[in-house]
Amino acid sequence: MKKIEDTSVITYKTYAITVNGEKVNEVNSQIEAENIISNLQSDLKEGVEFNLGIVEVLSTEQNGIPENSAFEVLNGLKLAKTQEYEAEQARLEAERIAKEKAARAAEQARIAAMVAAQSASYGSGNISGLTLSYPLRTSPLITSRFGEGGSRRYTHTGLDLATAMGTPIYPISDGTVIFAGNNGSYGNKVVVDHGNGIQSWYAHCNTINVGVGTTVTTDTCIATVGSTGNSTGPHLHLEIRINGTAVNPQNYLY
Ligand SMILES: [Zn+2]
Repeated sequence: MKKIEDTSVITYKTYAITVNGEKVNEVNSQIEAENIISNLQSDLKEGVEFNLGIVEVLSTEQNGIPENSAFEVLNGLKLAKTQEYEAEQARLEAERIAKEKAARAAEQARIAAMVAAQSASYGSGNISGLTLSYPLRTSPLITSRFGEGGSRRYTHTGLDLATAMGTPIYPISDGTVIFAGNNGSYGNKVVVDHGNGIQSWYAHCNTINVGVGTTVTTDTCIATVGSTGNSTGPHLHLEIRINGTAVNPQNYLY
């Protein structure tokens, strides 16, 4: 009896379609399973987590369902996964934009603070009541300070402010031009007399825009930054002299 029972059991073979490793449903042939998979994959968006596979299933019950209904079920799952993926992408994009916006705001605040700090000190320099302005309207790099020896034979009598070739130079205070021309190692140089024994020198200029006797204000572009004379790169050598003696410009500016 047992033997008869055993031999009369029918075994069905079906093909289960898996999504991300989990069986979703079964169809009756491998061809049907392959058709469904290739249909689902044909327009699957890249990045959507929807990995399809086929596994053989042996059982004593017939679990296979028609191809079209298996497709419907799987397609529904695919749409849900796609929507989930797109929502996540939208969320990431919004997050990225928000971060970018915050970074921009922080950068603007940093610049505003810098400008405020700079303009706060803009008119703060003065020599015995003479208000001073910065000679450059850029943020130069200080490459050599007053008094530094370095490789020079003589102590440095000014302040070196490196910035782009051609940058406009403005006098540190109103005055009259008393020298404008070439002056050996100083290269092209302009000297402005501010009265009361105070002079400012601007050396290594590229071009000179004023002549001796020109009355200048802090808005007169007297020259442009260059690298003439004893210079290794474009910079303004700013010198301040009081009664003929060079003083440290950083006592007043920068
Ligand atoms: Zn110098």
